[in-house]
Amino acid sequence: DTIGDDLDRAVAAWPEREALVDVASGRRWTYARFAEDVDRLACALLGSGVAKGDRVGIWAVNCAEWVLVQYATARIGAIMVNINPAYRTHEVEYVLNQSGISVLFASVSHRTSDYRAMVEQVRGSCPQLREVVHIADPSWDALLGRATPDLREECRVRRSELSCDDPINIQYTSGTTGFPKGATLSHHNILNNGYFVGELIAYTEQDRICIPVPFYHCFGMVMGNLAATSHGACMVIPAPSFDPEATLQAVQQERCTSLYGVPTMFIAELNLPDFATYDLSSLRTGIMAGSPCPVEVMKRVVAEMHMEQVSICYGMTETSPVSLQTRMDDDLEHRTGTVGRVLPHIEVKVVDPAGVTVPRGTAGELCTRGYSVMLGYWNEPDKTAEAVDPGRWMHTGDLAMMREDGYVEIVGRIKDMIIRGGENVYPREIEEFLYKHPKIADVQVVGVPDERYGEEVLACVIPRDPADPPTLQEVRAFCEGRLAHYKVPSRLQILGSFPMTVSGKVRKIELRETYAHK
Ligand code: ATP
Ligand code: MG
Repeated sequence: DTIGDDLDRAVAAWPEREALVDVASGRRWTYARFAEDVDRLACALLGSGVAKGDRVGIWAVNCAEWVLVQYATARIGAIMVNINPAYRTHEVEYVLNQSGISVLFASVSHRTSDYRAMVEQVRGSCPQLREVVHIADPSWDALLGRATPDLREECRVRRSELSCDDPINIQYTSGTTGFPKGATLSHHNILNNGYFVGELIAYTEQDRICIPVPFYHCFGMVMGNLAATSHGACMVIPAPSFDPEATLQAVQQERCTSLYGVPTMFIAELNLPDFATYDLSSLRTGIMAGSPCPVEVMKRVVAEMHMEQVSICYGMTETSPVSLQTRMDDDLEHRTGTVGRVLPHIEVKVVDPAGVTVPRGTAGELCTRGYSVMLGYWNEPDKTAEAVDPGRWMHTGDLAMMREDGYVEIVGRIKDMIIRGGENVYPREIEEFLYKHPKIADVQVVGVPDERYGEEVLACVIPRDPADPPTLQEVRAFCEGRLAHYKVPSRLQILGSFPMTVSGKVRKIELRETYAHK
């Protein structure tokens, strides 16, 4: 199948069911109308000369048009390039040139930045960029004006010539560990993945999915949009960018059955002063992914948000993204202690540094293989060869351990592991432990250079009460006798917030660099 076949099936089965709700603007689409608007936009792109394989960029916060562009580009075989809405001129210019974008969609409706001025600033240094379309603007209407009726037939022919292995999307990774890399993905890669992720939480046309995670990232556009459409469910966009109040408001108002988020988003929602006043009784499931979820948070999500069937997913942009997922009937222990087991038609293995599979219960690097592995990093064959070996195994860079029952525990990123005086220290273990301290609201543990031990353990703490943060002595006393001495933090940094990626992950690399010598 190619992207769009999912939409056609939903239109045929449920033309009048809701496909998309943009809560901020109050606009709604049925499947029939959504498909019509997609066709019109696809014709318009043909009318402005977009050919198969051309790169079309989208640099926008979440809005209904984002989803229209996603399906319209796929219909004519153009390669959509997702651009992080937090990017500014330097990074946008890099992406525009790195992927050779000829048409750029930009959103001007965001409260914090002036997209127009930034686009004009970089235009001169992006020779391939020939057209900029601002969303919710006369330039959008002008583009649609080019969708003449005679283009419908050409659009149909174009579509019939597509292969499911054609590249359809360049998604940049989150940039948690360095500069983002552009993963090139095919129809087959991401449409299948969206379908199976939805299948494992039993989506039907009755489901309404609240998607507060950014569309620019695979979590939103694959696990959200493609999972929804391939099961006839409805996509609900609560706000242009993450807002905990707007999210819970949308769940209540739209009677959503499913809610997405990275752990930090769920924490923000649960910590709202008026959390208890929202009616979240319509929720049954949802997905938490992207980074490890503290046990306490998971318990509250199940008990207080009614998400008894919440699923944990593990994945990465390069693998479309999901390769491991918990099942709806898994017990709480499996949903907090593991990231689930392998998805259908995907293989996983855990290897030692020599590439040999280690016994179950032993930590090593997680590798995945199957339909979901990307075609490669766009125009970066060397980086592709580093990540995907000749046997087509994707090396994830994550340390993991497979249990006897096939469930996988993520130990942490190889790059985040601290080596203190020859001992391996996994930040996640210490974070889980410190999370229980009454004065600690959130914590990140990183390694910083140390003359004596090579690296030392630094705890970066957001205190519950900024007026009464824990001291280093208190933190150490809390660990004493309960954690091995080499895991006990020897440095403490009190912070108000952590540096984050737009996909909601903490940039440990930035904490390491900032506090290395303090
Ligand atoms: P970059 O590759 O640019 O440094 P990134 O790896 O964060 O950024 P993504 O592709 O968005 O970019 O994220 C994939 C990574 O997220 C995985 O390799 C893993 O480290 C982490 N991850 C994803 N899901 C989970 C999960 N459920 N639990 C723990 N970690 C997770
Ligand atoms: Mg990565």
